[in-house]
Amino acid sequence: MIRFYVARQRFDAWLVADRLNQVGIRAHVFNQHASSIVGDVPPEVAQPQVWLERECDLERARIVLRDIEAAGESRASRTCGACAEESPANFDLCWKCGAALG
Ligand SMILES: [Zn+2]
Repeated sequence: MIRFYVARQRFDAWLVADRLNQVGIRAHVFNQHASSIVGDVPPEVAQPQVWLERECDLERARIVLRDIEAAGESRASRTCGACAEESPANFDLCWKCGAALG
């Protein structure tokens, strides 16, 4: 396992992991509930992170991430009507509760 990406938003981490899994790179999100943990942890530890199962996927994963950032997808979001959590704009279902978006 190797840490690949530290996200500012939970849905950013989910977006990146989802895209990586789509292209066959096994990725996991950790610390996705970090905002509910009490505050003394350094931000880098508390923020949601994407980890890759295999270090050899790192180069491909970087390319995928660059594409996501270039498309600006990680900055667009929509709010779930059911739980009010934000999800990436291209998600059809809320990442948190699974409700249909839009
Ligand atoms: Zn929701």
